[in-house]
Amino acid sequence: MSFDFDLFVIGGGSGGVRAARIAAGYGAKVAITESDRYGGTCVIRGCVPKKLFVYASRFKDEFEDARGFGWTTGEATFDWATLIANKDREIHRIEQVYEGGIKAKGGLTLHMRAKLDGPGAVKLADGTRITARTILIATGGRPSRYGDIPGAAHIITSNEVFELKALPRRIAVCGGGYIAVEFASIFAGLGVETTLIHRRDKVLRGFDEDLRDGCMEALRARGVRLVMDEALAGVDEDVAGFRVTLRSGAEIETDLVLSAIGREPATGDLGLETAGVKTGSRGEIIVDSYSQTTAPGIYAVGDVTDRVNLTPVALREGQAFADTVFGNKPTQFDHTLIPSAVFTTPELATVGLSEESARAFGHELDIYKSRFRPLRNIVSGRDERMLMKLVVDAASGRVLGCHLLGPDAAEIVQMAAIALQLGARKVDFDATVALHPTAAEEIVTMRDKWVPA
Ligand code: NDP
Repeated sequence: MSFDFDLFVIGGGSGGVRAARIAAGYGAKVAITESDRYGGTCVIRGCVPKKLFVYASRFKDEFEDARGFGWTTGEATFDWATLIANKDREIHRIEQVYEGGIKAKGGLTLHMRAKLDGPGAVKLADGTRITARTILIATGGRPSRYGDIPGAAHIITSNEVFELKALPRRIAVCGGGYIAVEFASIFAGLGVETTLIHRRDKVLRGFDEDLRDGCMEALRARGVRLVMDEALAGVDEDVAGFRVTLRSGAEIETDLVLSAIGREPATGDLGLETAGVKTGSRGEIIVDSYSQTTAPGIYAVGDVTDRVNLTPVALREGQAFADTVFGNKPTQFDHTLIPSAVFTTPELATVGLSEESARAFGHELDIYKSRFRPLRNIVSGRDERMLMKLVVDAASGRVLGCHLLGPDAAEIVQMAAIALQLGARKVDFDATVALHPTAAEEIVTMRDKWVPA
């Protein structure tokens, strides 16, 4: 049977674009379609613009810290419109790179919705039917929304937050995951009166408890008002903005309500049933370790499969798929050791097991922990401490987890991840010569096991 294409990819985000580009590089005849903008969540309304906002939110601290080093700066003012315009320019550039990379390899890029139309075929929004030997679904995810509370329509998500016309004076952020704490930290840094409302007593469930505590302390120190063990009951328009009513009956006046209560796989209206592609309880596409769905010839990578929803993971899944199907190199991506960071200020980063999960797996542990004020903060007068923690298997000495909170935590943990990937033991960390004077040197100079008080 002949097909129009060897590979048709639905979704031009990180996973889909990587797979299309690599498959085209192997000589496959490839087409990809994207109904919105090439780059997907990460580039358009996620990691990249978020990081630019994080940088913007840190300058106020820099201006303040500069005084301790002898600088006198004039009155600092911030212009939201400039940030948005420069962010948009950079995103447009990356968008072109994403699409251009596929074209450069001879792939066809389309700009419209597509859905499956039986095995080996897709139907485009303009009615065209295209056949392909292999189809890859990489449609990503979308923010979950409060559906059931009065005034839910007033609540924005991370989709809209990057396009705000003006910086609000006050914001209420709902949720306690990555997006909620990052945006609470960003808005507080930009001088917005920020309230974080979360249904539990701590943010960042699943992270090491020391990091969770440290993150909450850092948010408070940044001026974020934490309203814990609470839930949104409703949002009403008010003369001056919105009135948020909580489950307890308490009310919060604000100009903007942002919800970050998780994301869900974007599997709606994809025609999955026409080809026998099965989904799980959250709507995620069920795949095997080669990202093959329950339908022969149809694969899925990235957030739409709801495995580990991070850009580098989608990239690796897309790469492994292309290597397997078009490169004659069967590859299963191993999801076990994935570093991640939360870009609050200060940021936190982690790789490997938390102390709690390591104990739950039955490990006897040695814990090494250091909390110190980095040199820079001593001179600047900033009362912010760095936290470093190593979770070590007592029997083998192997480092199971590395957790940091403080400036450049993400940069440091990226390097530590190499050591963990190589199976490094605590003695290997000890044998590594410190690079002085840095904050990161603490990671190789911790000698005393931590003893609970
Ligand atoms: P997360 O899954 O990280 O967190 C969701 C948060 O919302 C949790 O605190 C959860 O609480 C809470 N929540 C869930 N449902 C409700 C509800 N009905 N009412 C109130 N609160 C609720 O989701 P995010 O939206 O923050 O981020 C989505 C994903 O995007 C992340 O999982 C991550 O993979 C990715 N991401 C990664 C980033 C990075 O790497 N730096 C940055 C941003 C996003 P509970 O703990 O009780 O379940």
